[in-house]
Amino acid sequence: MRKVIILGSTGSIGVQALEIVEANPELFEVLAITAAGSDPELLIAQANKYGVKTVGVVKNADLIRQALPDVTVIDGAEASTEIAALKCDVVLNAITGSIGLGPTLAAIKAGNQLALANKESLVAGGDLVMPLVKPNQILPVDSEHSAIWQCLQGNHATDISKLVLTASGGPFRDREDLSGVTLDEALAHPTWSMGPVVTINSATLMNKGLEIIEAHHLFNLPYSQIEAVIHPQSIVHSMVEYKDGSTIAQASPPNMMGPIALAINYPHRTAGATAPIDWSKSSTWSFAPIDAKRFPAVDLARHCGHIGGALPAIFNAANEVVVAAFITGKIAFNEIISTVAKIVEQYEGGTIPTLRDLSDVSAIEEDARKKTSLLITKVAS
Ligand code: MG
Repeated sequence: MRKVIILGSTGSIGVQALEIVEANPELFEVLAITAAGSDPELLIAQANKYGVKTVGVVKNADLIRQALPDVTVIDGAEASTEIAALKCDVVLNAITGSIGLGPTLAAIKAGNQLALANKESLVAGGDLVMPLVKPNQILPVDSEHSAIWQCLQGNHATDISKLVLTASGGPFRDREDLSGVTLDEALAHPTWSMGPVVTINSATLMNKGLEIIEAHHLFNLPYSQIEAVIHPQSIVHSMVEYKDGSTIAQASPPNMMGPIALAINYPHRTAGATAPIDWSKSSTWSFAPIDAKRFPAVDLARHCGHIGGALPAIFNAANEVVVAAFITGKIAFNEIISTVAKIVEQYEGGTIPTLRDLSDVSAIEEDARKKTSLLITKVAS
């Protein structure tokens, strides 16, 4: 029986993780769940259904306390960080955004295994997190990183030629002119069902950019050894190319159940976690290079990662603000990455700070968010 803590339980990954628990009651016990608290009914229902002993929320704590008199409710901005350090077998960090960094650090420092779906933890704070991590302490949940991790099993790091991340290409893979893209079009992802921010990040390929930075930290390889390729079917989740010219790929239908189940049940595989590929039907898997002109986010991410220090955190924070501005209709789709690029340029005009601790990350992010909001006001007016 694996004792699991789920941070971000009401989000897309959290809900799917609980489905895996529900399907395998003999394998998992949910000790604690946390959420922002914007959907208190769902959080309460989850706590009741899984007999959770501890719940963490940022808002609506009184409502949740009333509904769950026998449950310990921890509230406030630090609730997930506090709960991530509780003794358990694995913490699933399924929080969206760089606010997931504090809980990531807390889980690692407490010696817990960490199933990591929160890529921003490593994008913004990879230099802080990775030196503390023991072998196999972080279990990747991001499907590409889960794939690479699986493709690395039984091989030597020195034999790796490169990592190849696959990208669906998003809804605009074949669209030449991205100037008139609407919010609904950007939210209609062809193969993956995800939260709104990740979906917009997939449409701009920002998500792939963030994942390249994530891969750099997770697998300790230079950016020159990490590539991305368009694979519209999203069945090959990523690949590792070795020095002998052999490429090992991991393939399964596009859903997150497989990666989540592998991470929370490591080193075991969970029977039936996801439906396998149906070989009785004809199918085609295609691959194509990324058009860097239409999707500049990938090269920009690589650049920020290569410069390092606080620049990836700045890059990510700026993107979070710009995506929110796109969702509320303040700026156009094709202004998202160009606005992020302008912010990155602003910082590169000065000295880019290094990050010593979590408060450094928070401070630089706040600064980047302010500068981005200011720039958006200018762009939008
Ligand atoms: Mg991914």
